[in-house]
Amino acid sequence: MLKKLINSAHISFKIAPLDPLLIKSGQATVGGTDMSFMRTYKFGEKEFPFIPGSSIKGMLRAYAEKICRTLGDNKVPVCLPYIDSKKNDLTPDEKAQAACGLRVKEKDKEGNKSRTIISAKMYNISCPVCRLFGSHKYIGRLATSDAYLTKESEGQHRLEIRDGIAIDRLTGGTAGGAKYDFEVLTKGDFETSVDIRNFERWQLGLIGLVFRDMEDGLIRIGFGKSRGLGKIKAEIKNFKIISYNMPLRKLSGIVAHCTEQEKQSYGFFTETNGGEDTPWPECEKKGLRHEYTITELWKNLLEPAVNDLVQFVRTDKWPQKIDEFVAEVN
Ligand SMILES: [Zn+2]
Repeated sequence: MLKKLINSAHISFKIAPLDPLLIKSGQATVGGTDMSFMRTYKFGEKEFPFIPGSSIKGMLRAYAEKICRTLGDNKVPVCLPYIDSKKNDLTPDEKAQAACGLRVKEKDKEGNKSRTIISAKMYNISCPVCRLFGSHKYIGRLATSDAYLTKESEGQHRLEIRDGIAIDRLTGGTAGGAKYDFEVLTKGDFETSVDIRNFERWQLGLIGLVFRDMEDGLIRIGFGKSRGLGKIKAEIKNFKIISYNMPLRKLSGIVAHCTEQEKQSYGFFTETNGGEDTPWPECEKKGLRHEYTITELWKNLLEPAVNDLVQFVRTDKWPQKIDEFVAEVN
């Protein structure tokens, strides 16, 4: 990632459950349910349910992968982060989708540590989703925060215990009648935020499409997605674009403000035309920061970003780029 800060986007939003939610806590409970909801202590006193930022990032990433696959015509344009290319029993289809971060080996054929890959190179050869969310080898540009109950929901939230029956995976019947119970949240809104640093414009297009579907209640989070759990609805409370050191006249990403050499080494996508005619909000200048609030306008303003995304996904040379690199260094 570039050492200097060029731009950032900040989205704060509310999450409301449409279905019962279960964000599983890893902790065993004494005499409690088999699966309980994540909890945290507020001011060291009362326990409150919360959703970790990592769960939110996982949800956004999985949905972003789906969107890119939909745009990819007849090729798979993104990797699957859990497929390790070093495994022997992969089908050709799985091999083609192996995780970007796991393709590049730690050691070469002779067992020597392979040369450290500079982050520009790793960014350049990664799939569109890894470029935004990161991989095993690269930290990513998008950061999430933990989601806590809104002020209004504190004390008004509801957690319930449900019974489940373990299904035998082979027969589809119940596994010896084994029963388990789990805790779900049925009432309570959360608030949290997402930050993207040094974004390319198409990345805002991708995150914009995810948020649009989240606003329409089409995305699920947590445990039991195939059993009617986890559907949520998001509401954007604040959407801000920040440009450092330079005012913006329209929505543009990092490629508009970096050097030609940086563009080449990171492989930044050249933005498509468009966006010049859409009214751009007034600047709020705070020191070096030029801030633009687009909370009411984001769907219109992000249209050129979505066009960039479509072009980028269709023309990007992944996975050939990463395959060539791997063949060269390993
Ligand atoms: Zn990837």
